[in-house]
Amino acid sequence: MREQVDVVVIGMGVGGEEVAGRLAQAGLAVVGVEDRLVGGECPYWGCVPTKMMIRAADLIAEAGRVPGLAGEATVRPDWAQVARRIREEATDSRNDQVAADRFTGKGGRFVRGRATITAPGEVSVADRVFGARRGIVIATGAAPTAPPIPGLADVPYWTNREAVETEQLPRSLAIIGGGAVGVEFAQVYARFGWASPSSKRPTGCSHSRSPKPALSSRTRSPPTASPFAPVRGSPRCVTTEGCSPSTSTPASRSTRSGCW
Ligand SMILES: Cc1cc2nc3c(=O)[nH]c(=O)nc-3n(C[C@H](O)[C@H](O)[C@H](O)COP(=O)(O)OP(=O)(O)OC[C@H]3O[C@@H](n4cnc5c(N)ncnc54)[C@H](O)[C@@H]3O)c2cc1C
Repeated sequence: MREQVDVVVIGMGVGGEEVAGRLAQAGLAVVGVEDRLVGGECPYWGCVPTKMMIRAADLIAEAGRVPGLAGEATVRPDWAQVARRIREEATDSRNDQVAADRFTGKGGRFVRGRATITAPGEVSVADRVFGARRGIVIATGAAPTAPPIPGLADVPYWTNREAVETEQLPRSLAIIGGGAVGVEFAQVYARFGWASPSSKRPTGCSHSRSPKPALSSRTRSPPTASPFAPVRGSPRCVTTEGCSPSTSTPASRSTRSGCW
């Protein structure tokens, strides 16, 4: 049976949640549909947890400036504390109940599932069909995607999601993409002492190792020309932090040649 409402909002990330909540508060009959987590990328894999990571990494860097300026300081970085804060304080173990309740508290109706526009003014979610009298809002955001690098599909790699979810740091990390997100991750992991393939690593893997690739590309469709943004303005910053920026050659192939 078709349920009539005023507006269907597809995607309840920060954008969709705001629109849906305001329309509901204005008295419209609003259905908000979310496939994954209400709040979208920002609170679970984007702005919020990465800023926690940056805050922690900044503290490490700042403590490193004590000698010569203020005395002595010894710092032992511990990623487990960052991971715990992200899990418990930022994402509630990736539970969106609070956010869903926030929306329904404004008078909206929340439906979990993947929405499809099946006719003009009609949205289907599994076997439910909604007729939207006033409009459909598409707020589906973006998702990480992998650029077309030969061999990449054959190796495990991270996108921003795994880079935020990780409870343990990899032995080394190569970051493809020097935009804001890539540089943020590079600096954070370098400050925790692990990012650069040439930095000190624990022993235990006797093979030669390839750095684990992590992608910061976030477009839905594969980029066509040069897929990797050059690192403009920031090479000196990341070099002094222990990273090795490569700005001249796009990543062209990925192979697995050791353990991580
Ligand atoms: C690593 C990282 C760091 C960032 N840091 C910052 C920062 O510091 N400051 C800042 O302002 N921004 C930051 N951003 C950007 C910010 O996360 C995005 O701008 C924001 O998430 C966009 O919100 P949105 O609602 O448009 O989309 P999204 O957050 O992508 O939400 C869209 C939602 O739609 C859902 N969806 C998609 N298709 C369907 C469908 N068919 N049916 C149902 N649901 C569907 C998805 O599951 C998703 O939850 C960062 C992003 C990343 C990746």
